[in-house]
Amino acid sequence: MKRVSFVAGNWKMNTSRSTAIDLARGVVRGAMSGVDIGVAPPFVYLDAVGAAVAGSTVKLGAQDVYIEKNGAFTGEISIEMLKDLSVSFVLAGHSERRHVLGEKPELVSKKAQTIYAAGLTLVHCVGETLAQRDANQTFDVVRTQLGELGAWVTDPQRLVIAYEPVWAIGTGRNATDAQAQEVHAFIRQTLAKTYSQDLADRVRIQYGGSLKPDNAKALLSQPDVDGGLIGGASLKAESFLAIAAAAVAAAR
Ligand code: PEP
Repeated sequence: MKRVSFVAGNWKMNTSRSTAIDLARGVVRGAMSGVDIGVAPPFVYLDAVGAAVAGSTVKLGAQDVYIEKNGAFTGEISIEMLKDLSVSFVLAGHSERRHVLGEKPELVSKKAQTIYAAGLTLVHCVGETLAQRDANQTFDVVRTQLGELGAWVTDPQRLVIAYEPVWAIGTGRNATDAQAQEVHAFIRQTLAKTYSQDLADRVRIQYGGSLKPDNAKALLSQPDVDGGLIGGASLKAESFLAIAAAAVAAAR
């Protein structure tokens, strides 16, 4: 099954208004065909970055969303607000939200459903900590996190799973090609059992965790790896685009 890879930059709590616009323009200038490319700036720069990518193939993403439509939820952002800014994909369950900000599985699940039900693309992030890997719990953890998705998933084009081993995020220590492929294959099998083989074959599964230009080609060439979710290396257009180019080369 041929899947077009999706390479997305998660800018986290980085950039200023002007560096965000410059970075977005750089990505637009260098964007190539053969891969889907997206950027997820901080909320406050979504509008400016949206204007910078408008009319290009670069997709606009958000790093988070709240589950309610509107009301007294100080500091939160609704899915309608994101749609208003032409956001097309939203992350749920990023490890920093789970482990640094203490987001519980029930909330991650509601966020995932909120994103999906609004007609946007859900990038659902899963991955084990080092202690869980060392205790041989990787598959159990990932299976449980996939369980945050429900029977409401029907369109494989709007579901992306990001496998991001927590021990590889921002550490400079990436999963080996074999480690990534093993978990990606497990994710696809789990989706096939839960939904259908056809749906599982169409869902894109990104790898995330210290993905860089020099390790991208090998990781992105694994049969069940369909692009990447990139933190640090997405903050420079050059390194981000080199990873996108590696995804194109890996598909050949
Ligand atoms: C991430 O936070 O999604 C990520 C993969 O970060 P990094 O590329 O910096 O490891």
